[in-house]
Amino acid sequence: MKHLMPKLPYSLGALAPTISEETLEYHYGKHLKTYVDNLNKLIAGTLYEDMDLAEIVCKASGAVFNNAAQAWNHEFYFAALSPVAKTISPKLGSLIVKSFGSLQDFKEKLLGSATALFGAGWTWLVAQDDGTLAIVNETNAGNPMTRGLRPMLTIDVWEHAYYIDYRNRRADYLKAIWELIDWDVVEQRLSDDECNVYI
Ligand code: MN
Repeated sequence: MKHLMPKLPYSLGALAPTISEETLEYHYGKHLKTYVDNLNKLIAGTLYEDMDLAEIVCKASGAVFNNAAQAWNHEFYFAALSPVAKTISPKLGSLIVKSFGSLQDFKEKLLGSATALFGAGWTWLVAQDDGTLAIVNETNAGNPMTRGLRPMLTIDVWEHAYYIDYRNRRADYLKAIWELIDWDVVEQRLSDDECNVYI
């Protein structure tokens, strides 16, 4: 199966000035496209050829894993950003409070974890087996599905995600991108079977 570029639910300029059109031209149009193109080349004629992306992420290693996970992670990241401000619903909010103590504690823990991640990687909000939420960091192409955790939200902290707009100021990028998170999409992922097929 040939993997295709995911469609963005907004135009390349829609998240500016928080995320500029130039950043998305590179991040979506070049970085993500390279991962998708590399994946298609790597899986041709292999046992991964007919698997969907999540299955490859859960079963592959090495270069196939790296390119598949980067493709999956970026689609998941871009899909939960919105040019329209969203609020956390009472249902998701009460789960966050149960898991982290308060919404403010959750925000500080999520952004603090992303700020502290050394080098390239992703900060994730995940649902655990007991139904509570947790925050985990993954380096490079890491994806928590491979550890049996259900992804709810991810924040890309590779430098290519923010260097055009924020240079080395990762904390400023994180503070700004918090305002773009589409909490409706995050909440839908609580009941989205697609995330749970291979874990
Ligand atoms: Mn990226």
